[in-house]
Amino acid sequence: MVKKWGYDVISASDGTQAWEVLSGPDAPRLAILDWMMPGLTGPEVCEKVRGQGGDSYIYILLLTGRTQKEDVIEGMTAGADDYVVKPFDQQELRVRLRAGRRIVELQDELLSAREELRQQATHDALTGLKNRARIREVLAERMDDARRTGAPVGVIMLDLDRFKSINDTYGHAVGDAVLITAASRIQNSLAATDVVGRDGGEEFLLVTSRPTENLAALAESVRQAVAAEPVVVGDVSLPITASLGYAQLCPRADADLLLRAADEALYRAKHNGRNRIEPGQVDGC
Ligand code: GH3
Ligand code: MG
Ligand code: MG
Repeated sequence: MVKKWGYDVISASDGTQAWEVLSGPDAPRLAILDWMMPGLTGPEVCEKVRGQGGDSYIYILLLTGRTQKEDVIEGMTAGADDYVVKPFDQQELRVRLRAGRRIVELQDELLSAREELRQQATHDALTGLKNRARIREVLAERMDDARRTGAPVGVIMLDLDRFKSINDTYGHAVGDAVLITAASRIQNSLAATDVVGRDGGEEFLLVTSRPTENLAALAESVRQAVAAEPVVVGDVSLPITASLGYAQLCPRADADLLLRAADEALYRAKHNGRNRIEPGQVDGC
């Protein structure tokens, strides 16, 4: 009957089997449970389902032969969403299932809205990279790890050279297209454990756990990747370059000192002619 109404049906012959299905991968989102079952009772299955947490809500409809109020309260307290008294009317079961389906669908919409908000809160809309807040959080997380494990933490600050002149000459939209290409060149030149974010306008912050001796090589390969070839936007071909400053954490330094050292190094790279990398010295290291 339920199949005929358009649902995919998985049946379980007792409470234990029902719990196996509901706690397994790709569990059904709607469950109709008998109250009295061998193994686990309906309310016991409810309790276990609610206890497992997780994001995807399972809507539970209890079927009960009992009509006393206390029983209904017991079933709902165990986590059931609704109940139908046996012998039940087909149409009643049908509309109750439909109400359950609406709840499940609404919940899925909420989850995807939340996921989208999370994405927006942590990523830069233009380049798709992590935004300033998020990349700085990543740095803080890496520093926490480093304190516990002694793992290295390095940062690289990268700033596109003479970027303003691209905007001034070709317009903001072309500038945006260049930023997108630069971002993907940076991203593609990194290994899985290196992280990059857009730290501001045409500035990018990279966080890496590579050992000290590899930091300069990483900065150099990113520099080369950015400058590899001109960026073609419509019928203009724009050579681009970037300047980079890098710095390595030592146990006594904090994130501010590390970032300041990389920033000073970046400033030196600009001063020394751009399209180059410079090492930073962290105060106290
Ligand atoms: P330098 O080599 O010293 O870094 O020169 P520069 O021109 O890159 O430096 P400056 O800081 O003067 O210019 C950065 C420019 O980046 C200014 C701003 O208009 C532009 N910019 C910042 N964010 C965006 C953006 O999202 N899109 C576009 N198209 N331009 C942006
Ligand atoms: Mg710049
Ligand atoms: Mg800048």
